[in-house]
Amino acid sequence: MTYMEEISPLKTIMDIWKVKQSKPEDLLSRQQSRLADLISFARSNSRYYAQKYRELPEHITSLQQLPPVTKSELMTHFNDWVTDPEVTIESVKEFVSDMSLIGHLYLGRYMVSTTSGSTGVPGIFIQDKGSDTVMKSLVAFRGTIKLKWSDMLKIVVKGGRNAAVCSTAGHFTAFSTAERLRLKRPSNGKIKVFSIHSPLSTLVKELNAYQPVVLGGYATVMEILAEEHKAGRLHIQPVAILLGGEKLYPNIRAKLESVFQARVLDMYGSTEATAMTFECEEGHFHVNTDWIIFEPVDEYYQPVPPGKQSHSVLITNLANRIQPLIRYELTDRVIMSLEPCKCGRPFPVIQVEGRTDDILKFSATNGQIVNILPLALKTIVEEIPGVKRFQLIQTASDQLTVRLEMDEDNSRDQVWENVREALLDYFATQGLITISIEKSNELPQRNPKSGKYQHIWIGLS
Ligand SMILES: [Zn+2]
Repeated sequence: MTYMEEISPLKTIMDIWKVKQSKPEDLLSRQQSRLADLISFARSNSRYYAQKYRELPEHITSLQQLPPVTKSELMTHFNDWVTDPEVTIESVKEFVSDMSLIGHLYLGRYMVSTTSGSTGVPGIFIQDKGSDTVMKSLVAFRGTIKLKWSDMLKIVVKGGRNAAVCSTAGHFTAFSTAERLRLKRPSNGKIKVFSIHSPLSTLVKELNAYQPVVLGGYATVMEILAEEHKAGRLHIQPVAILLGGEKLYPNIRAKLESVFQARVLDMYGSTEATAMTFECEEGHFHVNTDWIIFEPVDEYYQPVPPGKQSHSVLITNLANRIQPLIRYELTDRVIMSLEPCKCGRPFPVIQVEGRTDDILKFSATNGQIVNILPLALKTIVEEIPGVKRFQLIQTASDQLTVRLEMDEDNSRDQVWENVREALLDYFATQGLITISIEKSNELPQRNPKSGKYQHIWIGLS
C-alpha cells in the first residue's frame, strides 16, 4: 500500500506536526519518497505521462530528467492527463458551467476550481480527497501560525463568523471552498460569501450586518474596505484578516493592521496547489516542501540559484493524484532566499514578485471617484464563452480599452458584444453609466519591459 493510499486526516496532521521540528534532511527524504510514488502512479495511470516519459529510465534519479509541463499543454490533453477514466473534459466543463453546483463535489468525490491564471489560458483543476486533506491541514496547522492563543480565543468568543469576500463569477477556489464549508453545515452560519461584484455600498452594508471576526479576501479588496472603515461607513472589528491571490505590499499590510487592529496573515498559493506556502512570524513565506517541490527556473527551465529572480517556477504537487502536476510551470517570478529564516523552521523562504493588477478609478456623473476592483472585472470577462485572452486598460477617467483574443470557432462580433455588454452592466451596478468601452486593434501582450502578463492596469495617456 502506498503512502497516499494509507493517508488519513489524522496521519496527515501527525506528519505535518512531526516535520515542524525536523531537519532539512528529513524534509527531503519525505519529499523524495512521495515523488517516487507520484511518478510511478502517473506513469501507470495517466496516458499523458506514460507517453511523455516513455523514453525515460524506469528509475528516475533526478527531477531534472523529467520534462516540464504547461497549463495549455495539460488542458489540451486533459482526458489523457487525468487518472480516473470517469473524469472527462466534457463532463467537467458541464459541471463548471452550472453555477448552482458551486461547492458541490464533481462525480461525488472531487473538488473543482477554474482559473484563467496569469498567462490567460483557462484551466480546470481537480483535487482528490487526499489532496484536500493535505492542503486543508497545511492551511490549518501552518497557515495560521501567526495567530496567538489569545487571537484564537477572541475568534471563538466573538462567535467565529468567517466572511469570504471573493469573486462569485465562477468556480474559483476561494468561492468554491467557502461554499463547500458552508454547505457542510448550512445551519451554523459560521461562514458566508460576500461578492466583490456587489456595489461597494452593498458589500459594506452586508459586512456590517454579519460582523465577521475572520475576514478573508484579496489585498485590493481589503485596501478598499480599509478606506471604507476609515471613512466611518464600515463598522467591523475582525480579529484576523486572511489574504491570498494578490501581492500584499508592506504599506497595505501596515494600513490593514492599523485600521482594523487585526492580525494580518498572507499566503502565496495557486489554484493548482492551494497551500504552497505559509507565512511565519517574521513575515516570510516558507514553501511547504514536504508536499510541494518548488523549482525557480529561467526561461530555458534551468535552475536559478538562491538570491536571483526566476523567470517562472516549476511546481510538483505531491498530494494530488487525479491530475498529476509534475514540474508544472507557474508564471510567477520568485527569489529563493540565501539565508535561513530567523524563525528556525526548515522550510525554504521565498519572495514573490506577485500579480500586479491595478485598482481602476473612474469618475461618476456626480463627480465622485469610484474604485473598481481588478479581480471583479477579470472574473467577469474570463467567464464569457469565446474569450481566449484579454487585457483591460483604463485610458481616461471614463474610458476602458479592451485587448481581446477570441477562440476561432466563435462569432467574433458576438463575443466582443458580450464582453462589452457584461462590462457596461457591471459598471452600471457600480453607478458608472457613462463609461465608454473600446476594442483595441492590438492583441493582448506581455509588458515589453517586465515580461509580465498583466490583465488590468491604468494606462492614462
Ligand atoms: Zn520564518
